[in-house]
Amino acid sequence: MLEGIRHIIEARWFELRNTGYIIEDYENEDIDFNCKVAKNNALEEIKRIMKIHKKKGAYVGCYDKIGNFDVDYSGDFPEDIDEYLVNLAKDIGGIGSTGLTSNPTNDPAKHENIVGKCAEFRLVNKMLKKGYSMGEFMLTKAYRFRKEGLLLVPYCPNCKYMFKDILDKED
Ligand SMILES: [Zn+2]
Repeated sequence: MLEGIRHIIEARWFELRNTGYIIEDYENEDIDFNCKVAKNNALEEIKRIMKIHKKKGAYVGCYDKIGNFDVDYSGDFPEDIDEYLVNLAKDIGGIGSTGLTSNPTNDPAKHENIVGKCAEFRLVNKMLKKGYSMGEFMLTKAYRFRKEGLLLVPYCPNCKYMFKDILDKED
């Protein structure tokens, strides 16, 4: 019990130091519950910042087992890319390439995504830079802003390849 409380306090400090995000309910130590709360908080945060930004790009969230969460959106390459991701990206052509989405014949049915600019990539990088390891957090599905609400965006083939173990596979 005391051990649990120590983790909770550490998590609060970690979270305050790193993002400023904090969840209300750390009392419940049930992992599934914490994940659900954190995932829901991530989705709420996506909705909140989408309304402010009104950006066309995709947004994604992530959360861990103790209730921490964070969000990011597609954009420029992160300034400081974690070595793990640099190496992982090499499998599919490297940062800055179109990776598995390469479309040399300009097939209109295919959309090219640049490795390093996806919301998922930027968010995973942010988490690794915060000190997380792969597997210590899960991603939510990705969404775009629409006046009517959130529009689900499928993960691109590059993200499916790189982040297969932490993608949201729920319906
Ligand atoms: Zn992607």
